[in-house]
Amino acid sequence: MTATPLTLYNSLSRSLETFTPLDPDNVRVYSCGPTVYNYAHIGNLRAYVFTDTLSRVLTWKGYNLTHIINITDVGHLTSDADAGDDKMEAAARARSMSIWDIAAHYTAAFKQNLKDLNIREPSRFPLATDHIQDMIEFGVKIGAHCYELESGLYFDTSTVPDYGRLAGTREDDREGRIDPVAGKRHPQDFAIWRKSEPGENRQMEWDSPWGRGAPGWHLECSVMSQKYLGANFDIHTGGIDHREIHHPNEIAQNQAHCECADTGAAFWMHNNFLVERSGKMSKSGGGFTTLQTLVDAGFHPLAYRMMCLQAHYRSELEFSWENLIASQTRLKRLLMTFDELHGQLSSHTTLLNANSLPALETLAPQNAELTNPSVINKLAEFDAAMSDDLNTAKALVALEQMLGLKKTDVAQKLSAAEDMLAVLGLEFHLLGLQRTDLRIRPTTATISENEIQVRLTERREARSAKDFARSDSIRDELASLGVEVMDGDPLGWDWRISF
Ligand code: AMP
Ligand code: ZN
Repeated sequence: MTATPLTLYNSLSRSLETFTPLDPDNVRVYSCGPTVYNYAHIGNLRAYVFTDTLSRVLTWKGYNLTHIINITDVGHLTSDADAGDDKMEAAARARSMSIWDIAAHYTAAFKQNLKDLNIREPSRFPLATDHIQDMIEFGVKIGAHCYELESGLYFDTSTVPDYGRLAGTREDDREGRIDPVAGKRHPQDFAIWRKSEPGENRQMEWDSPWGRGAPGWHLECSVMSQKYLGANFDIHTGGIDHREIHHPNEIAQNQAHCECADTGAAFWMHNNFLVERSGKMSKSGGGFTTLQTLVDAGFHPLAYRMMCLQAHYRSELEFSWENLIASQTRLKRLLMTFDELHGQLSSHTTLLNANSLPALETLAPQNAELTNPSVINKLAEFDAAMSDDLNTAKALVALEQMLGLKKTDVAQKLSAAEDMLAVLGLEFHLLGLQRTDLRIRPTTATISENEIQVRLTERREARSAKDFARSDSIRDELASLGVEVMDGDPLGWDWRISF
């Protein structure tokens, strides 16, 4: 089997391009990280399921990776341009907390979200506040491209070639969405440094050649990507909103820094949004959906990962509870098939030992253990799908079809399945995932599993004694406690707790 070359959609060219690393021994990826003034909503987390899929595919294809996810713990205003409150300062004020404590709390919560979604740790999570001096030096170096106003130091976007090429929109389309700041030469010019206003009481501020204040939000990503990955690296990722303002601004800063037309990254990749029918998810609005909201409603975090994998990362994905139920059910079916195959292979106990599972780094699209042509074909289909701009939805189908192959050697199927599951971030055995972990069970449920089992046994006895009135009353009683009895469920579940 020959491996399919990896093609990725590059927002810069608005087309699919074959991926060739700048340095074959070290593929360098930078992902814009969260602003840690609140919990991540599930839309934010879609961005990191996407980068994790990218990073897993690159690893599987044999590349060593340096992956950076920054933590924005300063300077991000409520508008992407230069207006509104500083999100971090506002959160600290609202909660009467130290801004440093706010940042530490939400950074830890974000990292826990990544763990729960089985997202691999990047090489580093650099903090913006650890790089203030680097940002000041960068600002000084690009001084010829900037001008000073009362409110701070601004970048003159007319001084770099082709500003906003990444956004691909006409200039006058963009202008309407950028809040005006008095004195800016062009509406799309942006802050490199924001001076604290006289009397302003900021918890986070630093001295700089332009006065006391804080860096503009766009600066940190140019500075940290360059510091950890070099001036030219392979891939820069972020949500689709970053294609319009944040990333064009990073590119402008990079070009000013090198005094050349290089954009910094060869590929700029953007995941589309997760949307809710109620409107765009917003971390700054209250009542948004977090991973904990899903867990409280009784779902396993990996059901959300599955939901993301079922869509292409460049398609908008609508969140709904129905979709989440379907995703958890699909995950459960996959796990049950997988467990059943393991059961058939009881002599192969080594496969059940998580420690003996090969790490993703040691796997490859050409799995040397495979000799069965049908299994090899399905792995090739899986590879072709993942190599086609990370088509996880199609890859999942190849995995399921492979598991469903009749009269095929079980060890061969399991070997291929282990590989595919690792690429998708669904390593059941490594994670110790059990069928019972995938029962929908809200954290608020008051009735225990034991109590439910006792009532169901009584109901079975009543039914065999043809006492249907009693059987129905037990069903109704369970329903009043939020437990839905599911007779004849194809997955063999007897009940579920409604949420
Ligand atoms: P933030 O914490 O707001 O800086 O966002 C963290 C990441 O989530 C960025 O890459 C955003 O582009 C991305 N993002 C924000 N909202 C959504 C959404 N609804 N769906 C997918 N990605 C999003
Ligand atoms: Zn960024």
